[in-house]
Amino acid sequence: MNGSVSFWWNQIDLPETRPALPGSIQADVCIVGAGYTGLWTAYYLKKAVPELRIVVLEQKFAGYGASGRNGGWLTNSVTGGREQYIKSHGRDSAHRFQTALNETVDEVIRVAAHEGIDADIVKGGEFTVARNDAQYGRLAAYAAGEAEWDNTDVELLTAAQARERINVAGTTGGAWHPHAARIQPAKLAEGLARVVESLGVELYENTHVIEIAPGQAITDRGTVTAGHVVRATEGFTAGLKGLHRAWLPMNSSLVVTEPLSDAVWETIGWDGRQVLGDAAHAYMYAQRTADDRIAIGGRGVPYRYGSQTDNDGQTAQSTIVLLKTLLNTFFPATGSAQIEHAWSGVLGVPRDWAATVGLDPQTGLAWAGGYVGTGVTATNLAGRTLTDLILGNASDIVSLPWVNHRVRNWEPEPLRWLAVKALYTAYGWADSAEQKGRHTTSPLAKMADIVSGR
Ligand SMILES: Cc1cc2nc3c(=O)[nH]c(=O)nc-3n(C[C@H](O)[C@H](O)[C@H](O)COP(=O)(O)OP(=O)(O)OC[C@H]3O[C@@H](n4cnc5c(N)ncnc54)[C@H](O)[C@@H]3O)c2cc1C
Repeated sequence: MNGSVSFWWNQIDLPETRPALPGSIQADVCIVGAGYTGLWTAYYLKKAVPELRIVVLEQKFAGYGASGRNGGWLTNSVTGGREQYIKSHGRDSAHRFQTALNETVDEVIRVAAHEGIDADIVKGGEFTVARNDAQYGRLAAYAAGEAEWDNTDVELLTAAQARERINVAGTTGGAWHPHAARIQPAKLAEGLARVVESLGVELYENTHVIEIAPGQAITDRGTVTAGHVVRATEGFTAGLKGLHRAWLPMNSSLVVTEPLSDAVWETIGWDGRQVLGDAAHAYMYAQRTADDRIAIGGRGVPYRYGSQTDNDGQTAQSTIVLLKTLLNTFFPATGSAQIEHAWSGVLGVPRDWAATVGLDPQTGLAWAGGYVGTGVTATNLAGRTLTDLILGNASDIVSLPWVNHRVRNWEPEPLRWLAVKALYTAYGWADSAEQKGRHTTSPLAKMADIVSGR
């Protein structure tokens, strides 16, 4: 199977279609996009003020975007790294942001349990493997950097310790922290959509928003007029009028194996259900699914010329081959395992690779996104933050350093395409040099980080 939105959706069947917007209507809050960002915002707003009329507009179906297709890492990453916030807002502020994300992992788990959403959640932490010296050097530097903070809980692992947890071929070491859980992404999206609807939020599907303007979301089926309009369109944002060069739609792809036999699992280990990544520049991400498959994602065609987005997850054959090769290299015991499904999705990349959430009180326009590859947790924090911003609550989270952060647009084409192509070529060369024996991080990767603003 190739595309069909995602394996996750196929596993639980695509949901029944909800009605489209019946014509022009009025609401208190209109949310554009029914991914995690839009759904969490609707959830917390409706819980806080049940009498609000909240309308969510979705071009396809709830969970159609990255939220129904991702790698299922519910983890505590600060998109683009904490360093930028240390520089711009100071250490305390950056620390508060990190703590909020750590807590958000538990908040998602709490709400899922409370609302009866079974999303195959297991909190096994995040395990990063190194497969050469340069990668291990980066992990060691990361662990040493973490050790300078209060309550540090990152463990640096020797090759033997790492192999004991997950037996990746060629391991030179690893790192682990506890603030991460594996989830089945579509189950979370489907459950959230069901819950917000049961709370009285109006969710309209197959309704394409053409333009967002102060007080209005203009769709192909009428206009929603509302005091607040929230843009939660992530990788699809470039399709909205006037926003073509805002967040760049970056593709990411995954493949999933058939369920693996007990004999294969005995070789691999992975009993803790940690989410698994590596320390390469063009990194991979993986999980052991609830039904004992490996879903592995990463490299592929990162960007399509002109900010094109999506064809229901259809994935290039070359990407499938790359991911299968990566899987078999990491886990030789999977050599004869069938790949059952491949799919892709788009994520939103701001020019400085830093996610934002914000509200312009003059216009009532709000937004959240630009999470790059780390939005599963941040979308929940964004939803709670938007709720407080819209309701005017002076909570702790509205002063976190990503709130109301502004970023410049991406360059026009062909510069945008050339920049991303050059970036990933540089990362590819750097990874290859490191795998061939270079002991320290390749200067190519450092240069690419500087040029991209990453
Ligand atoms: C393949 C892949 C793997 C990933 N893996 C991970 C991971 O393991 N961990 C992690 O933390 N993050 C991961 N991410 C990122 C994460 O999935 C996203 O950051 C997160 O899901 C973003 O949620 P969202 O609601 O903002 O966006 P989306 O889920 O993309 O939702 C946006 C919604 O808006 C709708 N929409 C867009 N434009 C319009 C319009 N004009 N009119 C109406 N509706 C519109 C879309 O159809 C979509 O449903 C991954 C992303 C991808 C693509």
